[in-house]
Amino acid sequence: MIPYSTQFIDEDDIKAVVEVLKSSHLTQGRSVESFEKAISEYVGIKNVVVFNSATSALFALYSSIGIGCDDEVITTPITFAATSNMFVALGAKPLWCDVKPDGNMDENSIEKLITPKTKAIVAVDFGGKPVEHKKIQNIAKKYNLLYIDDASHAFGSELDGQKVGSFADATIFSFHAIKPFTTGEGGCVVTDDNKLADKLRLFRSHGIIKQKLYKSDMIQMGYNFRMTEFQAALGLSQIKKVDSFIKKRNEIAIYYDERFKESKFFTTQKIGQNQKSSRHLYPINLAPSFSQKKEEIFKELQKKGLGVQVHYKPIYQNSFYIKKFGKMSLKSAEEFYKSEISIPCHQKMTLEDAKFVADIVLKVIA
Ligand SMILES: *Cc1c(COP(=O)(O)O)cnc(C)c1O
Repeated sequence: MIPYSTQFIDEDDIKAVVEVLKSSHLTQGRSVESFEKAISEYVGIKNVVVFNSATSALFALYSSIGIGCDDEVITTPITFAATSNMFVALGAKPLWCDVKPDGNMDENSIEKLITPKTKAIVAVDFGGKPVEHKKIQNIAKKYNLLYIDDASHAFGSELDGQKVGSFADATIFSFHAIKPFTTGEGGCVVTDDNKLADKLRLFRSHGIIKQKLYKSDMIQMGYNFRMTEFQAALGLSQIKKVDSFIKKRNEIAIYYDERFKESKFFTTQKIGQNQKSSRHLYPINLAPSFSQKKEEIFKELQKKGLGVQVHYKPIYQNSFYIKKFGKMSLKSAEEFYKSEISIPCHQKMTLEDAKFVADIVLKVIA
């Protein structure tokens, strides 16, 4: 089975982890700091705070910017549940914004959702394709809202030659095993806001500051959301290779684009000239007349050895969300879910694998 995404671990990665395992510090040593510095240099943003997952990073960030009861947050339903779960956990309410055919939040549908209770906009760069960051940033500025980017798919993606991570007030990345590069589990917040970064560091580690000798003080609520030293060592070794991973995924994606461009049966996600995608996913969208056949197509692709997946069921369709906020409907988000299939695209694949996948996809759908 060729999975839709997977990690790539080499001997250098293993060596880096083993070294830490033999050292004095398994947690709270130097590797986390070095990993944060490497991310900061890569993205070009001053402050980086790593966490034990992107979900913890989201929770820490939403809490630290003051999202709470009765606040509203505008976000996309085409994402992993954690994007909204973590502000709903704080008592805030999601306002769902419809998406465009590429799966990204429609920036033209944001303004009409804004009310006096709206506190933030949370975007997601679906599959690694950057959203219209500059337009969303302008809307956020105009209405004095915070702009958060859940870029869990998009480490290394760019818009107008500028890295994702440098547009929003704060950006989240995930280092889960199948994300653009990995620490097993892990995530981070990057931000230019020094005060916010200080709060996030406290939030990550019990809210306790060290003072002289044995003295310390707990000055705010905090948790233990720390990353281990061996995870950070893995991240530090992996981030050196992330550009080669992205290059490989783009080679495969460009090969698919070429093979699929004439297809009448489905469309693919187009990456603009001014954009670079991490290509975390390679989504295809079946033509409307084929959407009813998706289950059949999906099963057949699996049977032929493709580890396909679907991203995502609109979050508001989950029973927890229906119970809490009631039923709702967004036309494009639902069409997207009905038609989407993510096909294998990762750095372990060869172009021969890509040819094998493309042949099967074209044959099965035809
Ligand atoms: C994977 C993912 C998350 C959660 O990341 P974890 O590191 O697994 O907690 C959050 N948001 C999006 C969009 C994701 O894809």
